[in-house]
Amino acid sequence: MPIRFIDEIDVKGKRVLGRFDFNVPIKDGEIKDDSRIRAAIPTIKYVIEKGGKLIACSHMGKPKGKFVKELSLTPVAKRLSELLNIDVKMAPDCIGDEVLNMVNSMGEGDILLLENLRFHEGETKNDKDFSKELAKLGDIYLNDAFGVVHRAHASVVGVTEFIKDVCGGFLIKKEVEYLNNYLKNPERPFLLIAGGAKVSTKLGILHSLLNKVDRVIIGGAMANTFRKAQGCEVGESLVEEDLIPDAKNIMDLAKEKKVSFYLPVDYVMGKDVNDLTPMGTYPYQDVDSKGKILDIGPATLVLFSEVIKDAKTIVWNGPMGAFENPTFSQGSFGIAQVVAANEGVKIVGGGDTDNLIHSCKLEDKITFVSTGGGSFLEFLEGKQLPGLKALGLYD
Ligand code: ADP
Ligand code: MG
Repeated sequence: MPIRFIDEIDVKGKRVLGRFDFNVPIKDGEIKDDSRIRAAIPTIKYVIEKGGKLIACSHMGKPKGKFVKELSLTPVAKRLSELLNIDVKMAPDCIGDEVLNMVNSMGEGDILLLENLRFHEGETKNDKDFSKELAKLGDIYLNDAFGVVHRAHASVVGVTEFIKDVCGGFLIKKEVEYLNNYLKNPERPFLLIAGGAKVSTKLGILHSLLNKVDRVIIGGAMANTFRKAQGCEVGESLVEEDLIPDAKNIMDLAKEKKVSFYLPVDYVMGKDVNDLTPMGTYPYQDVDSKGKILDIGPATLVLFSEVIKDAKTIVWNGPMGAFENPTFSQGSFGIAQVVAANEGVKIVGGGDTDNLIHSCKLEDKITFVSTGGGSFLEFLEGKQLPGLKALGLYD
């Protein structure tokens, strides 16, 4: 069956087993950032307001199949209660008779939060028996955890074998709308901005998007491998020597496909990522062999800005430099400003790139910031994601 979303399904009086991404940072029992919980609220509210019984589940961290007190979802139940202003009950486990009894005593509009799915090793192994146990808890399966749809885990894939009525929540609906539908027929010029630490993690995207885009900008440490492939010195910077042939291939492919390809023309260099004083700005053909390239330089910012300005569709993954250190953040922050000011469709994703956008408070000026890290990248690579396949996206 083709993919359906929660607003196409009658949930009244039904038990809705909802997979969310409540994998939030917790320290000493305190939630440090609750944005993932907040992001799930529209879907949660919809289910309970329509009279569904919501059995919510999520993973937290990597307990590797064992109970780990620090990775309990109890603080999440508390935060959900505060955000929704209703009592969200916490289950002692995610499967078993006691949990089933709690589910059976729920009324319409109630919410029960199951304990960390990864306390059972069956979760990450996509185990059939574990999936079956989970499936006993719901009449309808709902997935709103885009961050895990690239993983074939029991609560993402296995469980859908045993619950026939499956759907996506509003977060997944938006991801599919932008990443699937929107990028199929992008308005042109279509620009890819790729940055970050490693070419190796971005090769798939570069290959797949080179067939679709009109322009490519490469920044971050990734650019070093491309410049090295052209015979340039990169000093002590991060570089992936073994990927030089791939970098050459990508540049050849860009030429063949008539894709405009832009690399940095100058850099801010430093002795180390943690240094607070930069060594200075260097043109790309004249880097200091005893330093590290840690940000794009001011001339590159001007060049890239020109390329970004009149693009109609932009996909951006990967920072332009080691932006966590303010000394090397100007390139990334500058590009973020220019992307935000562009009037076309701007889609941004990737764990660190999301952080970057949030740290310059520009999320409201970006058309869509994906909630997925790995899943966002794999989606752009054109891979079929198991969790979306289980919802019927590719049927
Ligand atoms: P995302 O998580 O958005 O996909 P990546 O994980 O690929 O992005 O890359 C982000 C990391 O790359 C950041 O931690 C940043 O510090 C690092 N980085 C970017 N440019 C450089 C550089 N020139 N030298 C060292 N690290 C860099
Ligand atoms: Mg990252």
